[in-house]
Amino acid sequence: MERLRGSLECDPVRMCEILVGLPDVEVIGLDASGLVLEVHVECRRARTGCPSCGVVAHIKDQRPVRFVDLPVAGRPMALIWHKRRWRCPDVDCPTGSWTEEDERIASSRMAITTRAGRWVTEQVGRCARSVNEVAVELGCDWHTVNDAVVAYGAALVDLPGRFGTVDALGLDEVLFVREGPYHLQYFSTQIVDVGRGQLLDVVPGRKGENPKAWLEAQGREWLDAVCFATLDLSSPYRAVFDAVIPNATQVADPFHVVKLANDKLDECRRRVQNETLGHRGHKRDPLYRCRRLLTKAHERIDDHGRDKLLGLLRAGDPRGEVATAWHAKEAVRELYAHRDPALALQWVDELSADMVDPDQPVEVRSLGRTLKRWRLHIAAWHTAQVSNGPTEAINNLIKRVKRAAFGFTNFRNYRVRSLLYAGKPDWAQLNLIGLV
Ligand SMILES: [Zn+2]
Repeated sequence: MERLRGSLECDPVRMCEILVGLPDVEVIGLDASGLVLEVHVECRRARTGCPSCGVVAHIKDQRPVRFVDLPVAGRPMALIWHKRRWRCPDVDCPTGSWTEEDERIASSRMAITTRAGRWVTEQVGRCARSVNEVAVELGCDWHTVNDAVVAYGAALVDLPGRFGTVDALGLDEVLFVREGPYHLQYFSTQIVDVGRGQLLDVVPGRKGENPKAWLEAQGREWLDAVCFATLDLSSPYRAVFDAVIPNATQVADPFHVVKLANDKLDECRRRVQNETLGHRGHKRDPLYRCRRLLTKAHERIDDHGRDKLLGLLRAGDPRGEVATAWHAKEAVRELYAHRDPALALQWVDELSADMVDPDQPVEVRSLGRTLKRWRLHIAAWHTAQVSNGPTEAINNLIKRVKRAAFGFTNFRNYRVRSLLYAGKPDWAQLNLIGLV
């Protein structure tokens, strides 16, 4: 036994308290008879004063309150806190009775201990685990975990100083949820620091008013630091930038420009399909068979694929309209192959002039009109050289969060979860957060 001295704790009561690991509590019992290990505790401080008059309070009664806690030795654990209720002995005092609180153990707003609440916030928010998976690990229900993630998560992402000034700001619409029998789509707008790849916030809708209000709330000094503003080809966002940061250079996101060209190509293919064969694409139809090859980048198609594409177009595209739309799409992609700003504007102008020619397929003319309307925004990318990478990376992060959550129906959940995962909160602060 001599060797056990030193740093070893041998007192059974202390050993138990160390294992339970909560401050200023006495372990008064363990119930190991069920699947969940139940640890019964009470607070060590036995005396307290009345919050109004300071008179030493009397114990009125003591009631057990159950909290989900962190697993111990691979087994789910519940903390049964025998909370004292106090009463003021002074009959003239208005306070009456009150229940003891200790935020270090658990907030009275939560069904989970504070340490477990912080842990689940990190598991779900930072590691993008599903709420359900974490709830199973803790042996509790979905709501207990989700309430904690949203409460601690909201406090963490809304701490001041999560982001500083922003050089390149992006607005991007994201589908938030499809709901109801008609699968109505609800959109959100994400506000992104494009330079740092940080999600700044998410606001409901894809109209201008919410992003505008958010930006205005950041203050003049913050807004004046924004040099570049990136956007998809959406007029509401353009109007927001015009109104709030008129001096920033607006840049059309290359990703969205190329996507539009691909969408127009797809529209053209479906129309020609319908006009030549009189029905929607079937798996044997040549145009349907080449739909993937068409939208693929040409340099990623090998010789075999190229022969196949040309053959299918010969068979299904008698007037060469789909081929024209395909060339238009590739020409739009070419825009981003070089980085010379002066050349870029010239290229956009020539390209859009060619596209609006009355001989062109209707979809190509429409693409040309859009390019014309956004010519400066498109060419500005070559000056700004703002990479589109971060916005796309954030979109992918949010998709991952959505998959883990199987789609959100509650905007507050969606916002907090997205910001925890892609908003770069200071995780070191999580342990300082209390829920008052
Ligand atoms: Zn009192």
